[in-house]
Amino acid sequence: MQLFEKLIEYRDAERLVLENTFRLPVEEISLEEALGLVLARDLRATVDSPPFDNSAVDGYAVRSADAEVGRVFKVVDEAPAGRPAEKSVGEGEAIKIFTGGVIPDGADATVMVENTSGWGAEFELKKAAVAGQNLRVAGQDARKGDIILREGDRIGAPEVALAATQGYGELPVYRRPKVVVLSTGTELVEPGTRELVPGEIFDSNSFAIVAQAREAGAEARRLYAASDDANVLRKAVKEALETADVVVTSGGVSVGEKDLVKSTMLDLGVEQVFWGVKFKPGKPLYFGTRGETRFFGLPGNPVSAMVCFELFVRPALMRMTGREDRRRPRMNVYFDDDVRNEFGRMHAMRVSLERTEKGWRAESVGAQGSGLVSSLTKADALALIGPESKGVRAGDPVEAIVLREEVVLG
Ligand code: AMP
Ligand code: MG
Repeated sequence: MQLFEKLIEYRDAERLVLENTFRLPVEEISLEEALGLVLARDLRATVDSPPFDNSAVDGYAVRSADAEVGRVFKVVDEAPAGRPAEKSVGEGEAIKIFTGGVIPDGADATVMVENTSGWGAEFELKKAAVAGQNLRVAGQDARKGDIILREGDRIGAPEVALAATQGYGELPVYRRPKVVVLSTGTELVEPGTRELVPGEIFDSNSFAIVAQAREAGAEARRLYAASDDANVLRKAVKEALETADVVVTSGGVSVGEKDLVKSTMLDLGVEQVFWGVKFKPGKPLYFGTRGETRFFGLPGNPVSAMVCFELFVRPALMRMTGREDRRRPRMNVYFDDDVRNEFGRMHAMRVSLERTEKGWRAESVGAQGSGLVSSLTKADALALIGPESKGVRAGDPVEAIVLREEVVLG
């Protein structure tokens, strides 16, 4: 058994994780899969958009010089979207046209059918038209060669739309991290498979961590380990290290006799960056690297595992995809009463938030035990109380990490 050599401060742990994490290589990804990722190159328009002058309305294409009220036009052809007219528009002539139809030669305006006597071989114009009316001019959205999106832009629905208008079937992005998640612990039972016998509990961490990783934009999968047997663990971690950008384990990382994660890592050539943080919940957190792979050994207590993921793993995943700016929002909150901190380390306290005229009021969700998964469903934010045993006074500003943005956005 080993004891912690040296506990580091929460802020140092946070910094060390980011200093040892880098953007993943650029990959072309299909337009359908690109949502939420970050563009790795500037994107240029490959064509004028729209590619041709077309009608913004259903009606008739005419020469604006002819388009006075009361004039009767002869309809000589039609131009539905996707099928340009064969004829051109001469004096006193019109071509029936629909939204998106190519403006025929000779025409310089379209009139809405509502402003005519209606559909037919002839029609009478009820409202005068001017040149350019109801036309969507080629290139008005983007001109061929223009930069339409920039490196670093986050791909949301509008960016997907714009790229599609330019014929991009794939986009260059910083690759989505591949995360492999393993639970350790002989007591763990796969939910949905059978009932518990005394001493057992259901594995919740691996599901929680996969959910957190996916929410952070990673590709995540579970790998079965659920054991405290060194060989089982070693085999699973070895497999994980070969395929993953990030390996996350839960449990077995403290100073108990069955805590095999750290020695297994050492065995497999993972270089330790730190082990042990002056932080609650999550003191035994382990972080190491092997080549391009990052390894996080999260504590087994479910709240510790999830909070450590939030504060250490999530920022790393964000950095890997170029989304450092998409960290959880941080803001100052206050408490109505003094808050003590008897732990001698930074306490990330689960709190609910309420907007008041004085700002955001935080309140503990209740008992802060590291096994209380239900407490996390009530937490809007983590209020950082500390460092060391520093508490906070009623009304003083306290930094909080907002977990539920919807609460703050209203
Ligand atoms: P450990 O860090 O392995 O000593 O585990 C600390 C506590 O967390 C113990 O009560 C474990 O039973 C519990 N625990 C560990 N892993 C999991 C898991 N995957 N799901 C739920 N609870 C767990
Ligand atoms: Mg364990």
